[in-house]
Amino acid sequence: MSLTLYNTLSREKEPFEPLDRAKVRIYVCGPTVYDYAHIGNARPVIVFDVLFRLLRHLYGPEHVTYVRNITDVDDKINARAAQEYPDLPLNEGIRKVTEKTEAQFHADMHALGSLDPTVQPRATEHIEEMRAMIDRLIANGSAYVAEDHVLFHVASMSDYGKLSGRSLDEMLAGARVEVAPFKKDPMDFVLWKPSKPGDPAWPSPGGIETPGRPGWHIECSAMSAAHLGKVFDIHGGGIDLVFPHHENEIAQSRCAHGTEAMARLWMHNGFLQVEGEKMSKSLGNFVTVHDLLETNEFGGSRWPGEAIRFAMLKTHYRQPLDWTFAGLDEAHKILWDWYGDTDGAAPAPNVPATIVEALAEDLNTPKAIAALHKLHRAGHFEELRAALEFLGFSGERAKIERVKQDGAGPGADTGEVDALIAARLAARQAKDFKEADRIRDELQAMGIVLKDAKDPETGELKTTWEVAR
Ligand code: AMP
Ligand code: ZN
Repeated sequence: MSLTLYNTLSREKEPFEPLDRAKVRIYVCGPTVYDYAHIGNARPVIVFDVLFRLLRHLYGPEHVTYVRNITDVDDKINARAAQEYPDLPLNEGIRKVTEKTEAQFHADMHALGSLDPTVQPRATEHIEEMRAMIDRLIANGSAYVAEDHVLFHVASMSDYGKLSGRSLDEMLAGARVEVAPFKKDPMDFVLWKPSKPGDPAWPSPGGIETPGRPGWHIECSAMSAAHLGKVFDIHGGGIDLVFPHHENEIAQSRCAHGTEAMARLWMHNGFLQVEGEKMSKSLGNFVTVHDLLETNEFGGSRWPGEAIRFAMLKTHYRQPLDWTFAGLDEAHKILWDWYGDTDGAAPAPNVPATIVEALAEDLNTPKAIAALHKLHRAGHFEELRAALEFLGFSGERAKIERVKQDGAGPGADTGEVDALIAARLAARQAKDFKEADRIRDELQAMGIVLKDAKDPETGELKTTWEVAR
């Protein structure tokens, strides 16, 4: 079985061969822990979880090391701590925010069927390595100290920009960053900066007396080297990280270690988008995983994690993915249908070859899903169950119930929805609009949208409902 993966660095699909088959090494940029993850953040988690599962299958679970970091140094974290815990010392507030958010992140990602990476290092636990790396960069002329900052000197690296394929001029035009007067060159980027009074601070590198904190990019260079070595196999993340984050990681790591490469293969997932726009916190067009998973009145999930996972994998990871509730509903219906047959089926001992082959073609999940449909149509439920489990799905209906079922399928058990709707209608007739609205909100929280319409013949007010889209 040969595995082929698209390499952003070469812009080609390449046969994958690890540096050491006994230790396949992959690093993926993880979350900044200050708030719930939105489903755009979940895309790289799910995509690289599929890769992790495939690598474990091909090389043996004990031979794959997957590192995904936790960024716990960031202005957004400081701001959130000050806002949420104004009475606590900042450091304690920060600890509370990061611990809570990290735990939530793990719970959400488990619910999406993702395995824990082998190592999940925190930035604050690797400040020493960052400092050492920065000192090396200063010593060899790749970085310089200016006004208590340490900056990477981009001009010192002849092939800077190879990953994103941009020229320095293009990068300059694209980088709408304020150019600090102490930079030798506008493209130079921060490795270390002084902390604002009261903010978290560590002893600085480069002989700087003022305590400070690391820049964002250096984190990943230090953590990947600490856990995977100077050169490793695969580095991944969302497409937005190509420039500047990954470009700068490469510059730091290669110049600090004197290597030709940081990772041999770079993989990037496309955006999850809403009406053609990237889902992001700053645009406000986001849905958190937490909100989707929320338990509804019937004790099921508003949207089961497995349905979210399936909706993600229907699109190839490099394509943009348009997020809709209709897509989520469709994903759920397919799983519900399959699970009716895989429930209770003993998984076949081997993962069907068609599934592994599809994934080995640059993680072709749409093709793998087509193969799942085929297994189902052919009545090969034990193989289907094995394939589902391999891909991170349970194959059990009890795990994906949305509304309480009486065996009829999702949405088909309308008994309790209807009861709520009848109660709302009664409340309206009694002119208790507050209660009527409360019931409407309750239904909405379960992902059910009501539509009121007058029956054209009788003039009677009828309420229909549908799953929110
Ligand atoms: P952030 O917390 O914004 O640094 O993002 C964490 C991870 O989620 C990174 O790998 C990002 O590239 C990825 N990411 C953020 N937004 C999206 C999106 N809308 N679609 C796909 N990936 C995303
Ligand atoms: Zn990173």
